[in-house]
Amino acid sequence: MSDSIKVALLGCGVVGSQVVRLLDEQADELAARVGAPVELAGIAVRRPQRHADVPAGLLTTDPAALVARPDVDVVVELMGGIEPARDLLLDALKNGRSVVSANKALLAEEGEALAAAARESGADLYYEASVAGAIPLLRPIQQSLAGDRIRRVAGIVNGTTNFILSAMESTGAGYADALEEAGRLGYAEADPTADVDGYDAASKAAILASLAFHTRVTAADVYREGIRDVTAADIASARALGCTVKLLAICEQVETADGGAVSARVYPAMIPRSHPLASVSGAFNAVFVEADAAGPLMFYGQGAGGPQTASAVLGDLVAAARNKVIGGRGPRDTAYAHLPVQPMGDVRTRYHVNVDVHDRAGVLAAVATVFADHDVSIATVKQEGRGGDDEGHGGEGTSPATLVVVTHEAPDAALRATVEALSGLESVRGVASILRVEDLGRPVSALGGSQ
Ligand code: NAP
Repeated sequence: MSDSIKVALLGCGVVGSQVVRLLDEQADELAARVGAPVELAGIAVRRPQRHADVPAGLLTTDPAALVARPDVDVVVELMGGIEPARDLLLDALKNGRSVVSANKALLAEEGEALAAAARESGADLYYEASVAGAIPLLRPIQQSLAGDRIRRVAGIVNGTTNFILSAMESTGAGYADALEEAGRLGYAEADPTADVDGYDAASKAAILASLAFHTRVTAADVYREGIRDVTAADIASARALGCTVKLLAICEQVETADGGAVSARVYPAMIPRSHPLASVSGAFNAVFVEADAAGPLMFYGQGAGGPQTASAVLGDLVAAARNKVIGGRGPRDTAYAHLPVQPMGDVRTRYHVNVDVHDRAGVLAAVATVFADHDVSIATVKQEGRGGDDEGHGGEGTSPATLVVVTHEAPDAALRATVEALSGLESVRGVASILRVEDLGRPVSALGGSQ
């Protein structure tokens, strides 16, 4: 058995407290797996008085001093936020300490700087817990699929929004009621902005795209729409189409005239109920990875929670500790591909558009012409409301009706231009809702790869 591996823990909240518990409860097994005892050197918190359950001698309010201690081998960061976490981890890495973090916001923002610091000093940087909590996802992408070519990573990576959309789907509730229920059950925070506006999912999409496509993608590169505008009517429309609505993070490597690009985007979309992601309900996460040789792979499990996230953190800690014991180092982040990020306007998908119209002769033809003028091909159109029938032959007059249009695949910019032009039509009262329809079953070859 080697000398003990000393761990500086920054943060002892929902996740950190579970790391402390597991390190204690599993001390003997962890020592056997690592080849050395794994011991806490100290725990940095803001309010020590709130942490009566951990040995007082370990607590400190000075994380910088803890990170700088010469006996520390690995720094485990579970504080969250950009600062002071960023400076603390850069200092740790520059001084050769290995780092484990669950901080998606920091990794999505400062991944390049952290990876460079790790590379220069030869330290390890692991962050499995930053995406999809307990689910082993980053290690399979980075290591198990290192010999393959990943084409698409798409999935549900935010449990709060999945809980809300699932509740809307199963009870018919509106967004506000479902959000309130999520808050009451502890699935949504008092300020749910990061979750419901898609920031959390965008950070995770940036991390996934960076690893899958060997290109540095930041959260700011990810196109983002949240779920605040999803209505009970949207959910009902999806059901009528044989679909359900999910907040998706989609990362793809696409072929372009200039030799390829990365598309990274987060938005609510309709997906067919037959797709495995459609049955992922409540606060669960699931991610589809499609690679040339491996084909489709699905990763499913709990994307948050103290013990669940601590499991992923401990997996990283064991890896970093083992490397310290044997004198090796883990795999580096690679960003050699330097692919550009595809502008959202070029992204091709299908759309479900509800157009509120005055129900009078010729309105369907006028609306269809606007779609055709912008090269957006209509797959189906249905009229709902007074005097209409399924073919859109409405009764005469000016009573309100809704045209439900589903398009074939078209570039996002063309759909935007179509919607703008529709708003200018005298017979159109407004575009009530637009939801993308994602055909995640598109074969890898459709993205430019070989089967
Ligand atoms: P949390 O419950 O809010 O705990 C944060 C901890 O950090 C607290 O112990 C806090 O001290 C400490 N802290 C914050 N700022 C500090 C500072 N400036 N100096 C010293 N200590 C400081 O957070 P969490 O839910 O455990 O999340 C931790 C990280 O894991 C975040 O990056 C989060 O995104 C990520 N994550 C969380 C989950 C989850 O299910 N919770 C899932 C995946 C990833 P006090 O206790 O004294 O206030």
